Amino acid sequence: MLLEENKPLAPFTTLGIGGPARWFTVARNESEVAEAAAWARERSISLFVLGGGSNLLVSDSGFSGLVVQVGLPGINESAGRDGTIMFEVSAGEDWDAFVQRAANKNCAGIECLAGIPGTVGGTPVQNVGAYGQEVASTIHRVRAFDLAQHAFVEFSAEECGFAYRRSRFNTDDRGLYVVTRVDYRLTPGGVPTLRYADLQRAFLPGSSPSLKEVAEAVRRIRQSKGMLLVDGDLDCRSAGSFFKNPVVAEEQVQKIAAIGGTRPPRFPAGPGAENEGRVKVPAAWLIEQAGFSKGYTLGAAGVSRRHTLALINRGGATASDILALADQINSAVSERFGITLEMEPVMLGF
Ligand SMILES: Cc1cc2nc3c(=O)[nH]c(=O)nc-3n(C[C@H](O)[C@H](O)[C@H](O)COP(=O)(O)OP(=O)(O)OC[C@H]3O[C@@H](n4cnc5c(N)ncnc54)[C@H](O)[C@@H]3O)c2cc1C
Repeated sequence: MLLEENKPLAPFTTLGIGGPARWFTVARNESEVAEAAAWARERSISLFVLGGGSNLLVSDSGFSGLVVQVGLPGINESAGRDGTIMFEVSAGEDWDAFVQRAANKNCAGIECLAGIPGTVGGTPVQNVGAYGQEVASTIHRVRAFDLAQHAFVEFSAEECGFAYRRSRFNTDDRGLYVVTRVDYRLTPGGVPTLRYADLQRAFLPGSSPSLKEVAEAVRRIRQSKGMLLVDGDLDCRSAGSFFKNPVVAEEQVQKIAAIGGTRPPRFPAGPGAENEGRVKVPAAWLIEQAGFSKGYTLGAAGVSRRHTLALINRGGATASDILALADQINSAVSERFGITLEMEPVMLGF
């Protein structure tokens, strides 16, 4: 295990913000994960697991513990008895590269999740989702190192407790596991998911696009919204959506509509008993109705010029700048609609 000291974290995040990690190491295999965990435990130092840094806001003063960047490589494929293909993917693999590989092999289940930045190990943490798909519906098993028991464990999808942008890894068991491998069960020759209007509009009515074409369309749509990492594109210097879409009761939608003078667009609330009879209201709509438009700026922080939900580093922004803008937005939304938006990115070192 190679340990570095006072390693700047900003270059490891898509926002490009944050102070140094007191200690830093890259784990390239499971033994190095266990070794890093033992090193931190023996010294009573807190440990933070870093993937691609695409859902992360690091404080300006950095982090006083050990950052373990998960860099485990490797993908194994095997045919299931039910005609599916199991992909056992090590946590350090690039997520979008894996989506591309699955689409090239004509395997369905994650085509709408093309272009999401970050690592494979990051995907179960907040149950990544976009354009009508979530990883929860294809994950079969998650292998992880249990930092309390100091042993490797495996979870079935049910045991992961997936819900909208949630799992056991970012709720009850936050910070307790280092995910080292995720097994996805994909369907060869399956039909692409075309649930979202944006995506449907990319194809002629009645056409049957391939999985690869759908994944490519998703990347194009994401790029048009600054939601694809593209060198030199200022609008993608973000952590993706900064706020979650609130899931509310139907009566609250009526109230929001009365205040806004028009009905908010509705997204399906997604699976899960807790979502029954509830509606997902686009946070972007609430933010716009509260007076913020694309391209709004506050010092070096700003709202993306192409997506109201993404807060960006316009150049030289600090974590405090981003939080000041987030606070301003949240106060305005709360004042107008009585809804407190929940932040999506993980905060480190605050
Ligand atoms: C331009 C842009 C667009 C985005 N679009 C979407 C989108 O459409 N949908 C969506 O859901 N998200 C989106 N995101 C957010 C982000 O890409 C995902 O949440 C991604 O899965 C984060 O993975 P990561 O490897 O970068 O994790 P990091 O940002 O490094 O870490 C995020 C959290 O996951 C934990 N973590 C990471 N890896 C592991 C591991 N191996 N074991 C245990 N814990 C781990 C970290 O400790 C941290 O708590 C977007 C981000 C950007 C910048």
